[in-house]
Amino acid sequence: MRSRTPDRLCAEAVELARTAAEEAALPGMVGDHVEVVADGDRVVTHYFACEDPGYRGWRWAVTVARASRAKAVTLDETVLLPGPDALLAPEWVPWSERLRPGDMGPGDLLPTEADDLRLEPGWTGEDTPPPNSALAEEMDRLAEAEDADVTVGSPAVQAVPPARGSIAAVAEELGMRRARVLSRYGLYSAADRWDESHGAKTPMAQAAPASCVSCGFLVRLGGSLGQAFGICANEFGPADGHVVSLAYGCGGHSEAAVMPKAPRPSLPVIDETLVDPLQLHPVRQGSVEPDGPDEELGHS
Ligand code: SF4
Repeated sequence: MRSRTPDRLCAEAVELARTAAEEAALPGMVGDHVEVVADGDRVVTHYFACEDPGYRGWRWAVTVARASRAKAVTLDETVLLPGPDALLAPEWVPWSERLRPGDMGPGDLLPTEADDLRLEPGWTGEDTPPPNSALAEEMDRLAEAEDADVTVGSPAVQAVPPARGSIAAVAEELGMRRARVLSRYGLYSAADRWDESHGAKTPMAQAAPASCVSCGFLVRLGGSLGQAFGICANEFGPADGHVVSLAYGCGGHSEAAVMPKAPRPSLPVIDETLVDPLQLHPVRQGSVEPDGPDEELGHS
């Protein structure tokens, strides 16, 4: 049981504690006596400021103790400890938690944990329907027919492509014939991310004249994600090549501002009832202006 009041003899042993701290520290690095704290019955720690500029805010802690019914105070231990205002290194964080999107460079490998929540096993051919189910017999027959198709592992290790119409072929078409596929959690977290960056609540979407769902530049996605997302294919849009929510939008919407066609120039009007005089040579300086029809040099 800890005693709140420091033992009197231990609390008075400041000089004993200071001498111990000075023996442990470099010369001149032990500063003022800061406080005394009771650690237990007849066990007290004296704190001294640390004057080392490299340890700002740290304190020398010297623990002294006294045996029951003894008057002599003895040294327990001396240690340098961080105070409340000490400058400390940030807590160590594993690399997998420090990693941020965009950190990967060419040639980097990013391992995924075996139990990564974003992934779940794909179709391997190992699944069997429940016993006595209507599918059991049919699957047995198909599995025999497929032979090499029902092989555990990713398509990379399965040299023979699955026979048309087989279970493996259907699984491949659905994108399930991989060692691991996106789990429901992985799918939801991706959808949340995309919605945050290119969703209805972004300033770009709020100011857009119309949403992506009606835009001609939207490429539709297959699968369940296609109900809420597509890919923008507008080279000049802010989301070209990105997955966008159908509720997103931008000023590049295909129907937002259709350019008016340039007006066609009207056909030339030729008046054939009049004759226009046409001068073939410029009038020479100082020459007399022709004043009659005979002097005119040309006619249209
Ligand atoms: S151009 Fe704009 S509105 Fe059209 S799909 Fe891309 S982001 Fe959506």
